[in-house]
Amino acid sequence: MYVGRFAPSPTGPLHFGSLVAALASWLDARAARGRWLVRMEDLDAPRQQQGAADLILGTLERLGLNWDGPVVYQSLRLRDYESALEKLRLHTYWCGCTRREISDCSLGIAADGAQIYPGTCRAGLPAGKAARALRVRTDRQPVSFADRAQGPQAQILQKEVGDFVVYRADGQFAYQLAVVVDDAHQGITDVVRGADLLDSTARQIYLQHLLGYSTPRYLHVPAAVNAAGEKLSKQTGARPIDTAKPEQAIRNTLRFLGQAPAVDLEEAIANWDPSRIPRRRAIAIEDG
Ligand SMILES: [Zn+2]
Repeated sequence: MYVGRFAPSPTGPLHFGSLVAALASWLDARAARGRWLVRMEDLDAPRQQQGAADLILGTLERLGLNWDGPVVYQSLRLRDYESALEKLRLHTYWCGCTRREISDCSLGIAADGAQIYPGTCRAGLPAGKAARALRVRTDRQPVSFADRAQGPQAQILQKEVGDFVVYRADGQFAYQLAVVVDDAHQGITDVVRGADLLDSTARQIYLQHLLGYSTPRYLHVPAAVNAAGEKLSKQTGARPIDTAKPEQAIRNTLRFLGQAPAVDLEEAIANWDPSRIPRRRAIAIEDG
């Protein structure tokens, strides 16, 4: 049985960029007569906005994007992340490097803009260093998968990303760990999300293997960006979806996803054709 999900961060109200991911995953799940779950990725407390989770849920309801089962909040699932870290124990090590030290000896910049960690603390914390973050050891085996929209993908983690953080220096579980634990816990078979996360997928598949989880299918839809090429977000000033005009919001989103126009969501489900999604990582739009 198909199980999909929408996993927003409650940093502000739903904007066009997140609606693209929400509608694509909802349509894919409904067209497959599957379940569609909502999960709030609210681990990063300082970035949260009070009331944003409820605003997002209210907008989904107003648009007719109904979900199945209770909404899951990552902030209430810390025990599961803790046991996953315990399970990864033989594959992780403590790193004492500061951001500055990593950029001074980095192997370059990864596709997602982060520094490639050179493995400084792999053989043990250097003398006089305090443990900061927990990293997982990567290798040189290519991690490959076939994305349903973006085509075949492959990444050699050690070379292109480096050993990556699963527990952060600020005491938070890393996004990559939490998302993998949650997708497994919720039995997700199909991840449909924005292509800004395409480069995270190999790390997530790698963790799934280490933890003995199965790997879902992936479909990365183009990310909506502004004229400057920045991903739409609260930080880049994206406008909230106007819930007074739900049909217009759905119409614009269907167009962005390359889908045929539809009079309502029933027709949009019937028309849903993932092969029409533009095979692009990002598409610039005029405004959120
Ligand atoms: Zn280090």
